[in-house]
Amino acid sequence: MRCHLAEVLVADDAGELVGTWTVHFMRWTWEYTFTADGKVTWRDPLNNESGSGRWALMGSIVNLTWTNSTEKETWNRPIRPGDQIGWCVASYGTGKIEAKKAGGGASAGLKDDLRTMANRSDFKFGSNYDQVHDRITKASAQEKREALSDQPLLTLIRHKMLFNDFAMAVELLGRQSPTGKQLTEDAVVKSACEAAWADSNVNASNPNDWRENGGYIFMNLVSGQVSTARVPSGNWGGLNLPGPEIKDIPDDSIVVGVFHTHPNPDGAGTCEDHDVQKSKIDGVPDVVRGAKGPFPCGVERRLHLAGSRGYPGPSGGDPP
Ligand SMILES: [Zn+2]
Repeated sequence: MRCHLAEVLVADDAGELVGTWTVHFMRWTWEYTFTADGKVTWRDPLNNESGSGRWALMGSIVNLTWTNSTEKETWNRPIRPGDQIGWCVASYGTGKIEAKKAGGGASAGLKDDLRTMANRSDFKFGSNYDQVHDRITKASAQEKREALSDQPLLTLIRHKMLFNDFAMAVELLGRQSPTGKQLTEDAVVKSACEAAWADSNVNASNPNDWRENGGYIFMNLVSGQVSTARVPSGNWGGLNLPGPEIKDIPDDSIVVGVFHTHPNPDGAGTCEDHDVQKSKIDGVPDVVRGAKGPFPCGVERRLHLAGSRGYPGPSGGDPP
C-alpha cells in the first residue's frame, strides 16, 4: 500500500512541470515552456533564438532532449516550482541548472506548501518537525482548518514524520482531544457505555455478581475519529484499567479517555474519589456509566496529542 502511494505521489509531479519556466545555466537565462504531450520549447529572451525538444520522466529525474543538439539535460524530481535544480552537459559548458516556474515562487497557501514540503527529498524523517512547525505557525486560522480537513495531506505527512512530531503538527493545525463532556455525548462512546452497562449484571440479586466493565477511548489523529476497546470485566467494586500496550492502540491513534460502569447504586451519578485521582494521574478523562446514564469524571481533556500514545500522565502530554 505504501509503495503504491509513493508511486502516485511521484507521478503527480509531472503536472507541476507543465507551464513556463525561467531557467538559469552558467551566464545564460532561457525561458522553457513544457506541455503535457511531452514537448518542450526554449527561447533566449535576449536574442529571441528558440528551439524545441522533448521531456520524459525517468524515475528520479526528468530527461530533456533537444532537437539537433547533443546537449544532455536532466531535472531532479520531485519537481519544485519555486527552486528547481538540474544538470546540463553541453558543448559550451557543464554545470548546475536552476529554474523557477512562472508564479511558482508565490505561496500557494498552507495546504499546498505542506504538500510540496513533504514531497521534497530534503524532508527527512525525524528532523522535519521544525520546518512544519514554522510554516504552520505563519498560517491563518482558516488555512489551518483547511489543512486539517485534507485527509490525503494528513496521511501524506503522517507517513513522513515521527508519530510524535506528527501529533504536535496536528495540534498546531487545531486538533484537540475531546473533553470528557464531549466524549459523554459522542455516539461511539455512548454505544460502548451501553454495551458495557448491559454486561454489568446490574439486575443480579446478589451484589457480588455485579461486574464493572469498561475500556479505552482512542482518537485517530489523521481523521479525528473516536473508537473504543474493552478490557476484561472487573468485579462488583472495581475495574483494572492499566495503561494499554502499544499493540492494543489502533494505528494513528492515541488514548483520549477511558470509560467504565458503576453497577453499584452508590456510584450511580457521582464521580468517586479514586476515579478522579486516577484520571489526574493518567491525564485523560473518565466517562462513567451509572444507573442514570453516562457522565464525565476527572480531568477536562487530554491536554496535548503528543507524548505517550497511551496515558500521557499528569502533564497531559507534550506541547507543540
Ligand atoms: Zn469507578
